[in-house]
Amino acid sequence: MISLIVPADIRGAEKPFVVRLTAEASHVNDAVLRQTDPDTLLVTYGRTRARLNGSDTSQYAGDVVLLDPERAIMHRLIRAKSRHNTFVVTERCDQLCVMCSQPPKKTHFDNFEHFEKASQLAPTNAVLGFSGGEPTLYKDQLFGLLERVHDARPDLRFHVLTNGQHFTDADIQFFSSPAGRKVQWGVPLYAADRALHDSIVGKIGAFERLQTGLAILGRSGAQIELRTVLTRMNSEVLTELAHFIARFVPFAAPWAIMQLERIGFAKNRWNELFFDNSVAFDRLAEAIDIARVSDIPVLLYNFPLCTVPPAYRALAPATISDWKNKFLPECDGCKLRTSCSGFFEWHSDQAYLRLERQ
Ligand code: SF4
Repeated sequence: MISLIVPADIRGAEKPFVVRLTAEASHVNDAVLRQTDPDTLLVTYGRTRARLNGSDTSQYAGDVVLLDPERAIMHRLIRAKSRHNTFVVTERCDQLCVMCSQPPKKTHFDNFEHFEKASQLAPTNAVLGFSGGEPTLYKDQLFGLLERVHDARPDLRFHVLTNGQHFTDADIQFFSSPAGRKVQWGVPLYAADRALHDSIVGKIGAFERLQTGLAILGRSGAQIELRTVLTRMNSEVLTELAHFIARFVPFAAPWAIMQLERIGFAKNRWNELFFDNSVAFDRLAEAIDIARVSDIPVLLYNFPLCTVPPAYRALAPATISDWKNKFLPECDGCKLRTSCSGFFEWHSDQAYLRLERQ
């Protein structure tokens, strides 16, 4: 597991600030990173000195970090070598999904200023994620940030994970703007049945609100990635969901069916929620086929390749973020490993009944 938060002894600054770590400063926000002894790395920025444990500057080179003297940490907001950089906009949420990987909190820490600065220092052509909690609880700030960052860095693209509960017709202007066109909206939809969807997300009326939100996104021509986390609660109704998407949300692409992450609420309800696709893929296959016949592209996120029948493996890219990704001893020598999602760091090694190295 790669740590995103690194202990740091920071002197010469009182408030948190964002810098990019480089060997030689060429920008006003560049801090110099070097090694001072075999076990210590030093970050210098003006009068500020931050000492970290480490023996290799290359592990942080090019990273955009938040140096926080109050918490004595360096938060790696953007890792230069990673495709998986996501800002947690807030931990507040107005839903309470049964399998939420990051259970919501009531408090909110406003880090928009830091996220905006970090975005402007991102590597060329990066894709930056915004998630939560529910980021659109702070919709005006989020849209404002995206507009300003797009003005300064038109090369960047964005992915915003949202429950789709808070969009109104007034947002069409943003969705249709040059900045809005750079956003892909990741929107969860768990069932075609409103009662089931509402019970999975823990909010009465959520399905109804979501249909309005999706319609607004669709009318704007926004890029939508529909997301369905697979659980025992919806595994039997995926074909109905496929028909529903083909009929009512045909403008969404792709439809991402996602395996469960054993953390947050799902950790304590794992046996109740985890659906083992390695021994029962038929309903999934049927749903995928229905969607594809209707020209809805389908992707399988977080599925170990050997748990997917060969005919469907091309739909399962390696999607687990590098910082929380692991492989099992069984994976040693597997010829699929370079293109396989593998497992979440916190996955139960006994979860899949059939797991065979290829
Ligand atoms: S054995 Fe491991 S690397 Fe190979 S396909 Fe299965 S999960 Fe992926």
